[in-house]
Amino acid sequence: MTVDEPSAPGLLREAATEWPIPALDVDAERRYGWRPLPLREVVVKLVGPCNLACDYCYVYVGADRSWQHRPAMASERVLQRTAHRIGEHAQRHGLERVRVVLHGGEPLLAGPEHLRRAVATLREGAAPAVRLDVTVQTNGILLDATMLDVLAGQGVMVGVSIDGGRAQNDRHRVHRDGTGSYDDVRRGLDLLTGPRFRSLFSGLLCTVDPGHDPIAVYEELAQYSPPTIDFLLPHRTWASSGPAPPGSEPTAGGHGAWLTTVFDRWFTTSRGETRVRLFDDVLRLLLGGTARSDQVGLSPAAFVVVDTDGTLQQVDALKVVAPGAPETGLNVFDHALDDVCVHPAIVARQIGLRALGATCRSCRLVRVCGGGHYTHRYRPGSGFRHPSAYCADLQVLIDHVADRLVATGQNAGRDAGQVPGHVGGTSTSDSPRSPPSTATRSGFSAPNA
Ligand code: SF4
Repeated sequence: MTVDEPSAPGLLREAATEWPIPALDVDAERRYGWRPLPLREVVVKLVGPCNLACDYCYVYVGADRSWQHRPAMASERVLQRTAHRIGEHAQRHGLERVRVVLHGGEPLLAGPEHLRRAVATLREGAAPAVRLDVTVQTNGILLDATMLDVLAGQGVMVGVSIDGGRAQNDRHRVHRDGTGSYDDVRRGLDLLTGPRFRSLFSGLLCTVDPGHDPIAVYEELAQYSPPTIDFLLPHRTWASSGPAPPGSEPTAGGHGAWLTTVFDRWFTTSRGETRVRLFDDVLRLLLGGTARSDQVGLSPAAFVVVDTDGTLQQVDALKVVAPGAPETGLNVFDHALDDVCVHPAIVARQIGLRALGATCRSCRLVRVCGGGHYTHRYRPGSGFRHPSAYCADLQVLIDHVADRLVATGQNAGRDAGQVPGHVGGTSTSDSPRSPPSTATRSGFSAPNA
């Protein structure tokens, strides 16, 4: 693979740096038409440590180990300042709702009482400016009736991470002594998905391992009738020293083939059984819509992470890149969320095609793929303007979904960047190698692209 050289005007002040910092010129981006987007999601690292030791965890086995030097738990003061910043931001931008995701580590290690206080602090501190939709993302082990009663009392939705049945889950999601976590997670999930707490269930998150039987994994997850399943590619980059994802080589398309098998099971026999966010996104993009996640597409990222010490950070998956990679240098004590919106690393995720390297900009799938997850584009020495480390997998998946759409008579095709009518919309690509679309269907607009 060759290094992609940026070509859009006004983007680079210096060569030989890791894009986007310090190369991305925010003032030049403004002149080029970019405008800051308000943040609509705040990920709050309520607890730093975890009660599991999953072998692919980007927090504990990635390059960044900063959790060791931060407070184990977000203090009342950090939560108050976070709430204040959210309220201030919402008021300034007229936001009626902001999504807050309680994250970790394992956020339920906070215990039911601290968790109750934390949610109350966030909600009260942000009121009356904005309503917070609060979700907790948990490994499920501490989901008992006491905890769920507290979450229900606070109106907190619950997402659970699990990788399939016992055999699949316990290959990676293990306790510190190496024993599997499945039985503990299953206990919590059974309680959450039972009649008493079912309304709190927001969905399942599963990390893909192509060594596992895809149908078996999907059906294990589907038995809970989750509102949504998120299949995530294990985080990795082009760095040879990066953590290897579970299973086969990522660039060989093995993850993509695995996903296509699940797609067929879901698409052919299970429509309506559950939503699968990645598949929904690819279908939506092929048909001219926008993505809801940051795995594919060119939608601008509009979220920030608050760590336990109050520092404001980029997506925490960047912990696989390098020590300190997610840092912005900002914090909730001294900086408004508006300051985050103009940070070059955040702007880099809001400028659509201009954030991509030449290979992606000229790719026939770019308006659907969008270069994949930002983290997966990183290459040491030059930064984030490269195709995804999962490029081959994304091509396999997108081509397959497009073929299925064509076979069912939908208006999509393999050459997703060039088929009028399913993507493109109002795009005004800067790249001479990125074919402008004449399509106007469904209002897709690549942000500032
Ligand atoms: S498939 Fe995606 S990651 Fe690969 S070149 Fe195309 S846009 Fe880039």
